[in-house]
Amino acid sequence: MNAGQNDERNVQILLNKEIQPTAMRLLTLEYLLEQQAAVSLADIELHFHKADRITLYRTLKTFEQKGVIHSIQEQQVTKYLLCDESCATGIHHDDHLHFFCTKCRNTTCLHQVDLSVMSLPPGFSVVQWHFSASGICDRCAGTMQ
Ligand SMILES: [Zn+2]
Ligand SMILES: [Zn+2]
Ligand SMILES: [Zn+2]
Repeated sequence: MNAGQNDERNVQILLNKEIQPTAMRLLTLEYLLEQQAAVSLADIELHFHKADRITLYRTLKTFEQKGVIHSIQEQQVTKYLLCDESCATGIHHDDHLHFFCTKCRNTTCLHQVDLSVMSLPPGFSVVQWHFSASGICDRCAGTMQ
């Protein structure tokens, strides 16, 4: 993989979301793009052990606000996942299923599951949907006998 091309692509991702591509933001984005599952602030801190915690936290908050990542709660821990391209400042389209694997303890976004059939009784209005499920993910199922 060509590092220069990657950088350019990542700069473009940030610019598309109206974020100034600083070095720390680019590194954080690169890390998030490499992940197969949700990561917590602690995971990211561990990866960037020389980086300032507040800077990392602010970077994540900016990314979340601008529609680069969305967060989920997993056993009282906030974890982050990359958003769809259609997410933007204040507009998230992440009403998809989050699947927690009890074996590898990773959470992944499942965009394939149709949740559009969900409806509520009269009088209830939704601010945000949270869909989650737990079980065994495809990667773990593949390695089990
Ligand atoms: Zn989003
Ligand atoms: Zn798994
Ligand atoms: Zn998600």
